[in-house]
Amino acid sequence: MIELKQISKSFGKNQVLQSIDLTVEKGEVVVILGPSGSGKTTLLRCINYLEKPDNGQIRIGDFKLDFKTAGKKDIHNLRQRSAMVFQHYNLFKHKTALENVMEGLLIVQKLPKDEARRRSTQMLEKVGLAAKLDAYPSELSGGQQQRVGIARALALNPEVILFDEPTSALDPELVGEVLDVIRKIAGEGITMIVVTHEMGFARDVANHVVFMDGGVIVEEGKPSELFGKPKEERTKQFLKRIA
Ligand code: ATP
Repeated sequence: MIELKQISKSFGKNQVLQSIDLTVEKGEVVVILGPSGSGKTTLLRCINYLEKPDNGQIRIGDFKLDFKTAGKKDIHNLRQRSAMVFQHYNLFKHKTALENVMEGLLIVQKLPKDEARRRSTQMLEKVGLAAKLDAYPSELSGGQQQRVGIARALALNPEVILFDEPTSALDPELVGEVLDVIRKIAGEGITMIVVTHEMGFARDVANHVVFMDGGVIVEEGKPSELFGKPKEERTKQFLKRIA
C-alpha cells in the first residue's frame, strides 16, 4: 500500500499542492485527471522526490519517509521503491535500448552485468521490443522509445510505477501501442499511478480515479462513480469540457 499524507508544495508564492492525502492499494491502477496546472505532474514528481515537497509523509509498504527531514539515504530508499515513466521518455541518446534499460540496474541496483542484461532483455521482450535491443533512440519511433522507458521502469522491479502523461508527446497513431503495453502490465498486478488525459484508458484500466484542481483532490472514486455520477460541480464541468 502507498499512503501520501499532507503533501504540500509551493514554487515561490504559487502553492501548487495543498496538503494532499492519497491512499493507493497494492495492485491498484490509479489515474489522476485534472486541468492543466492543477498539480498532477508535481504530485507525481514529489512521490519520487524529483521535486522536494515542503511538507508531508509517504509510506510505501513498510517504508516510511517524512519529506521535511529526509536525508540522502531515505531518498535512495524511496527511489528503490518507485520508478517513473516520463512524458518525453528521457532516454540516453548515445545508449542502445538495452543499455538504457540496464543503466539503472548497474548504477543504482549494482547488479552484475550478466544479470542486468538478462533482466533488461526480458523486459524489452515484454514490451514487444525483442528485435530492437541494439537500436539507438533515434532509430526508434516515439511509441517504441516510450516502451523502452516502460521496460526501464519495470526492470527496477519497483513497488509502484509512476506514469507522467506517457502518451501525450506521441503522434495519435502511436498512442494505442503504448496504452496496450501499460494495460498489459496493469493486468499483472503492478501498482501504478498514471497522470493522463486519455479518458478511455482511465475508464477501462483504472481501479480508482482522482480528480485534481487547484492543488487539491476535489473528488476521487471508482471510474463508474467518478465518470458516471460525479458529485462535485468542478468535476462535472471538467468532464463536460473534455467529453
Ligand atoms: P499539465 O496537465 O499541463 O501537465 P499539471 O496538472 O501536471 O499540468 P503541474 O505541471 O504540476 O500541473 O504544474 C502545476 C503548477 O506548478 C503550474 O502553475 C506550473 O506552472 C507550476 N510549476 C510546475 N513546476 C514548476 C517549477 N519547476 N518551477 C516553478 N513552477 C512550477
